[in-house]
Amino acid sequence: MKTIVVSGIQSSGVLHIGNYFGAMRQHIALQDKHESYYFIVNYHAMTTVRDADALHRHTLDAAVTYLALGFDPEKSNLFVQSDVPELAELTWIFMCLTPVSHLYKSVTYKDKIAQGLSPNSGLLGYPVLQAADILIYGGTLVPVGADQKQHIEMTRNIAQRFNTAYCVDDPIFPVPEPYILDSVAIIPGIDGRKMSKSYGNTIGIFDEGATLKKRIRSIVTDSTPLEDPKDPDSDNVFALIKLFADKDQEAEIREAYVRGGYGYGHAKKRLISMITDYFGEARERRQDLIKHPDYVLDVLREGGRRGREQAKRFMDRVRSATGLMTTYGE
Ligand code: ADP
Repeated sequence: MKTIVVSGIQSSGVLHIGNYFGAMRQHIALQDKHESYYFIVNYHAMTTVRDADALHRHTLDAAVTYLALGFDPEKSNLFVQSDVPELAELTWIFMCLTPVSHLYKSVTYKDKIAQGLSPNSGLLGYPVLQAADILIYGGTLVPVGADQKQHIEMTRNIAQRFNTAYCVDDPIFPVPEPYILDSVAIIPGIDGRKMSKSYGNTIGIFDEGATLKKRIRSIVTDSTPLEDPKDPDSDNVFALIKLFADKDQEAEIREAYVRGGYGYGHAKKRLISMITDYFGEARERRQDLIKHPDYVLDVLREGGRRGREQAKRFMDRVRSATGLMTTYGE
């Protein structure tokens, strides 16, 4: 079976280093190897965003961020989720196959409600739209962060339910596999919870200068005095340092923690310079892209065209298998 890579990122806020290490870095690495569809999931973002200007701005900003980080539109497709409105139709079809009890078991739903987000039906149905997102392009491999493991399991379950219900002899949907790097756990935000746009605890990929300093200084640590030994494995700053450090740097900082005489302030300073260096080139490319919005829109338009084409292939089969009919021609 041909590998088709599919994944998305919400435009509910500025993209952050959890998005980068959890997902985007893998997206960019896979573009050389397989046909791939990456989209900015603005329908999903509507579960939490009510501000039209902000949704629009964050959508374009996400596209700029992808391109600045090395996404190559010659190799892979980048587009906006709402440019493929057939998704809403497939979501409905999948909703009719999904027990409500499965949705209530979603860890991300429970987590978001616990954090005070409004329990609207969109938030509950989030994994069903995600399943449609993956399956409508015939996705077989889904690079995501560790927080999404259960959602991909739900997608697999929905693909199997659909195939069993409607096309058991000639299954329409492949059952996709998650692609989750063991080396990247769930990345903590500045308050120690999962870093997420929905929680306001992020460090933006392109944060710099005073903004970056302020964010890093507010990372929650324990109150171990400077001179005492510290446990790197229970510290939020070290969890972030590990993402940027090479093996030698990681060993050196780990040793300093354990030895004592190395304060969280030292570690934070080191982290600021690591982040600044790491995204330095991408930051420059971003400045250039901001000056060329037409180019960014062209990339999204072309990606959307290819995405729609692929989606239509699947939707024709879905409509025929389910008995849905239209009485108008194309
Ligand atoms: P957010 O929670 O910030 O809105 P998204 O839902 O848009 O993030 O997730 C986009 C991708 O980034 C997903 O593949 C997700 O697994 C990954 N991701 C998001 N936050 C984290 C995190 N804190 N650690 C690891 N991966 C993450």
